[in-house]
Amino acid sequence: MTETMEKPAVRAVLEALQPLLGDRLVATQAVREHHGRDTSYHAPALPDAVAFPRTEAEVQEIVRACAAHDVPIVPFGAGSSVEGHTIPTRGGLSVSTREMSAIVEVRPEDQLAVVQPGVTRKQLNTELRATGMMFSVDPGADASLGGIASTRGSGTMSYRYGTMRDNVLGLRAVTADGEVVKTGSRARKSATGYDLTHLFVGAEGTLGVITELTVRLHPVAEAITSASCTFGSVEDAVNSVIELVQYGIPAARVEFLDEVAIAAVNAYSKLDLPVAPTLLFEFHGTEDWAAEQARIAEAICADHGGAGFAWSADADERGRLWAARHDLYFATKAIEPGKELYTGDICVPISRLAESIMAARADIDRSYLTGQVVGHVGDGNYHASYLIRPGNQEDLAEANRLADLMVGRALEMGGTASGEHGLGLGKLKFMRREHGDAAVLAMQAIKRALDPKGLMNPGKLGMAG
Ligand SMILES: Cc1cc2nc3c(=O)[nH]c(=O)nc-3n(C[C@H](O)[C@H](O)[C@H](O)COP(=O)(O)OP(=O)(O)OC[C@H]3O[C@@H](n4cnc5c(N)ncnc54)[C@H](O)[C@@H]3O)c2cc1C
Repeated sequence: MTETMEKPAVRAVLEALQPLLGDRLVATQAVREHHGRDTSYHAPALPDAVAFPRTEAEVQEIVRACAAHDVPIVPFGAGSSVEGHTIPTRGGLSVSTREMSAIVEVRPEDQLAVVQPGVTRKQLNTELRATGMMFSVDPGADASLGGIASTRGSGTMSYRYGTMRDNVLGLRAVTADGEVVKTGSRARKSATGYDLTHLFVGAEGTLGVITELTVRLHPVAEAITSASCTFGSVEDAVNSVIELVQYGIPAARVEFLDEVAIAAVNAYSKLDLPVAPTLLFEFHGTEDWAAEQARIAEAICADHGGAGFAWSADADERGRLWAARHDLYFATKAIEPGKELYTGDICVPISRLAESIMAARADIDRSYLTGQVVGHVGDGNYHASYLIRPGNQEDLAEANRLADLMVGRALEMGGTASGEHGLGLGKLKFMRREHGDAAVLAMQAIKRALDPKGLMNPGKLGMAG
């Protein structure tokens, strides 16, 4: 008998679900360990078992069985979140959406797709290739759409095409009582009722299990131009971005990498970018319009001392550049092999971006930890990451100190403690400071109304903070 089977409530749930799920209900140590963590430094905690439903009806049965025996439920997508979101701190059932990976419907004429929550962003884009449409939200990891929605995630293209908040038209979710809530519609906009879609988007699995999403698609641009430009200082690079944003140039991507990140990318992805604060751009439009945007960006960068503005419409070159950007997590870990990457994520009003990034960089320079600053800076969003020794409390305390300084400044500037990674376990402590007591109480009231027993991803958003 496993330790899991020694808990009567869990045993009752497993016995109830076994006939339904068969070998898609797993309590082996390896599978529990895989679902006991995310991609972060947070200490893992094991679920008692992992369920792999294929349909919404199966999710309903799982939720009803857990509710009957007060067993917690933690939805699990690709497990790529970075703030401890998927860690079942109170055990229970991890509900993986891996087997809910069907693309239900693609409607290019309505610019939307209907998917099960386990569909990943790359899977959807591969399916869309022949349609001339794309799904634009691209976190570095090949995350599931249910996970991206639940963290209200974004990516390199969100400056132009919006975050997940802007790209979910509607969804279906199984709430804690086993009922299905359907939100939104296939229309681009609606003025009817409370906006339940956006209550579930960013809820981090604390209000229910999303079982289907209707997401927006965007036409693939006729012409795409990418560019890079290096600067003598972080300030010059970021001031160029601020001007670009304030001019309203609709760049598709505006990414900042400091010199530590560029050196890492060069080494890992075999590039030879000059090691200096760098901006990477992508412009979408007609051939003339994409080229015109690149020329305007080049002029703005030149005004701020930007050098070697190199732009190209070559698809292979562009592919290499963005693949390297998306592999930055692994490139950074390779700087000091064996260490973990602690990533802090904040977002500030665009006018405060230079000040904020420079302060974060200066904090790292004064610290004994190796760290870097990179970001989706067109949105005012950036990440500072620090390499820490696994399990080393001194390194963890120092990384926490640096991240807390960065968040504190962001909040003073009118920004937020997380632009895209979400709260998980790591950022809960900032909730009251960012939102105030009344707003936190309102969120807790919503949580109690939809999940009175507190079984959905307990210990996270809506229960603590
Ligand atoms: C290399 C790397 C790069 C990254 N880059 C970015 C980036 O650029 N932008 C960004 O936003 N994030 C980024 N991330 C973080 C991560 O990819 C995102 O948070 C992503 O949205 C998580 O999706 P997931 O499928 O992995 O979700 P998981 O990690 O499995 O889950 C995340 C949360 O969503 C909940 N959840 C998952 N599925 C469901 C569901 N069906 N119903 C209800 N709740 C659910 C979980 O309970 C959990 O609380 C990066 C991570 C890595 C490792």
